[in-house]
Amino acid sequence: MAGRIPEKIIDEVSRKTDILDVVGSYVNLSRKGDRWWGLCPFHNEKTPSFSVSPDKNIFYCFGCHKGGGSYQFLMEMESLNFPEAVRRLAEKAGVDIQDDDGGEGYRDNRRALEDLYKRVSKTFRWLFVNNKNAVHARDYLNKRGISEETAEYYQIGWAPRDGEWLYNFLLKKKYSSEFLAESGLFSPKSPRWSYFVDRLMFPVMPDSERVVAFSGRALNGKEPKYINSPETVLYKKSRQLYGLGQARKKIRENKHVVICEGNLDVLSCMQADSGNIVAPLGTAFTQDQAGLIKRQADSITLLFDGDDAGRKATVKAAILAESVGLTVKTVKIPRGTDPSDILCSQGPETLKKLIERPINIFDYLLDLLISAKTDNTGEAQEEALKELTPYLDAVGSDVRREKYLRQLADEVNADPVTVIREYRNNRGKELLRTSRLLSYRSTDLETETVFNPVGDELYLMTAVAVKTEHFTTLRRSLAPEIFRDRRALSVYRVMDELSVDGRELSTEVIVSKLDDEKLKSYILEKAVAGIYDQRADGTIKEKIRILQIRTLNEERQELQKLMDKGNDTGVDAVNPMINNARMKRIVEIDNEIQAR
Ligand SMILES: [Zn+2]
Repeated sequence: MAGRIPEKIIDEVSRKTDILDVVGSYVNLSRKGDRWWGLCPFHNEKTPSFSVSPDKNIFYCFGCHKGGGSYQFLMEMESLNFPEAVRRLAEKAGVDIQDDDGGEGYRDNRRALEDLYKRVSKTFRWLFVNNKNAVHARDYLNKRGISEETAEYYQIGWAPRDGEWLYNFLLKKKYSSEFLAESGLFSPKSPRWSYFVDRLMFPVMPDSERVVAFSGRALNGKEPKYINSPETVLYKKSRQLYGLGQARKKIRENKHVVICEGNLDVLSCMQADSGNIVAPLGTAFTQDQAGLIKRQADSITLLFDGDDAGRKATVKAAILAESVGLTVKTVKIPRGTDPSDILCSQGPETLKKLIERPINIFDYLLDLLISAKTDNTGEAQEEALKELTPYLDAVGSDVRREKYLRQLADEVNADPVTVIREYRNNRGKELLRTSRLLSYRSTDLETETVFNPVGDELYLMTAVAVKTEHFTTLRRSLAPEIFRDRRALSVYRVMDELSVDGRELSTEVIVSKLDDEKLKSYILEKAVAGIYDQRADGTIKEKIRILQIRTLNEERQELQKLMDKGNDTGVDAVNPMINNARMKRIVEIDNEIQAR
C-alpha cells in the first residue's frame, strides 16, 4: 500500500490552501460579514444553509450538518480518501510529497481501480460477444428487442458461470490478491469468488470513459434479479444513475432527462430513439439523484412501470424532482407493462411516441386521485387534498400552486376559496413537520440542538476547540482525569496529543481527529456560527474555575469520608498522624476554594 504522508506536510498543505478557493470552485458563495454562504452541494435546498469561515478554515452546513476543512470537503465532493485529498491539494499548493514507497501512492490506487473496472468491463463484453457459454445471455437481450448496436453502446457484458474465473484471470494479469480483495468485484466472504456469477452485466459509466461499478441481471430466473456493486472509492450508489454517461451529450443539448425504473428499460428507450434516458441503480429515486439531474437539466419525465409500485414511485419522485426545482412530467404506461415490454410487443415507434407525449404531473396526480374516488363526496375531496399536499408543498412557485388548487377545486366541484383555505390548513401541519427537521431555521443557533443540556465540560471543550489559544491554560489548570463527559474528554485528548506532537492546534485539525460525528458537527456549528467569537474568553475562564472547584470539593469529600472512618474505634482505627495530614489538606483545599 501507499506510504503515509507526514503530518507536517498535511499541516503545511492545509496552511497554504484557501478554503474559499477549494469550496468556491464547486459552490457559488456570497459574503455576509466574515462568513460566506451558498447552496449546499451535499443536500438539496433552495435557501443557503451552507457556510464557510475562511478565518477558521472550515465549512459547515446547518441543514445536513456536514462540515470540516478543505480535505473533508474534497473527500465528500470527489469521493476521495484522505491521502488522495491531501495529494490533490498539495499539487495545487505546490507542496512536494515524497512517497516512501517508491512513487506509487494513493493517487494511483484510485486510478488503478478505474483501470481495473475498465479492463473487467471489456472482458465481460468480450465474453458476451464471443463465448459459447454466453448464448443464453445474447438470446435474452435479443428476445427483449435490444440490437447489437445498443448492446455495444452500453457495453453490455456477461459474467461467467465459473465464479473463480475472473479472479484467476486477473491474477494472471499481475493484479495482487490484496488489491483485488478491496476492489468490490469479489465476495467479501470468499475473496476468490466473483460478486457476479452468470449475469448479464451493465457497466455503470458516469461519462463516456470511466466504469465505476456494475449492475448484474440474473439470467436463469434466480433471485435477486439485479445486484449492484458494493460502494467503493469510485462509487456512491445514491449519487449515480445508470445510463448517465451515455445520455450526457443529449441531456446537455436539450436540458431534459427521462427516468425509468430498470437498466433494461434504459436500453429499450435508447433503442426507441430517446437518448436522454437514465435509471436509478436498484434503489428508489433519491434526493441526491434529483440534485444530480438538476445540475444538468431543467425538466424531467418520469417513465415508471404501469403497476401500483410504479405509481407510488411516480408520486414520490415527482415530489423530489419538484423540490429541487425540476419541471416534472410523466408518461402513463399501460397497466401491467413497462418500457421494455412495449418495445418488445409494439415496437420502437410506439414507445417513442409515448415518451414524446408526456403529461403534466399535476394532471396525472389529479387523475389518479379522482379515478380512485368514484363518489364525489366531501370525504373524497378531503382525502384527495391530503394526498396532494406534499406535492403542492414542493411546488416552488406560488402562482403555479394557486393554479393547481383551482384546477383541483374544479375537478372536485368545490369552491376554490375553500380548497385554498383547506390547503393552507393542511400545509400548516406539513410545514411544522419540515421545520422540526430543519430546526436550525427556527431556533436560535445558541440553543442546543445536538446535545441538550450541555454540561460545563462539553461547553468548555467545545469553546476551547474553537478558541484554541486557551488550551495551554486549560491544560495547566485541569488534568484529563477530572473529565466525566466522554465527549469533552475526547476533545481534550485530541488537543493534548496534537500539542505533544508539536502540531498546529486548529479547529479544522481537531475535528478531523474526532470519531463522534455528532460531536464534530456540534463543534463545527458553533465555530461557523461564531458563537465564541465575542464573549467566550470570560466564560472559558469561568468554566475552568467551576471545574477546578468541583475537583477540589470532590477531593475534600473523599478526605472527609476517610477521616470519619478513621475516627471509628476498633479494627479500622488509623494512626492519628494520618488523620492530621488529612485535616491539613482539607484546610488547604478550603483556602484554595476561597481564593478562586
Ligand atoms: Zn447540506
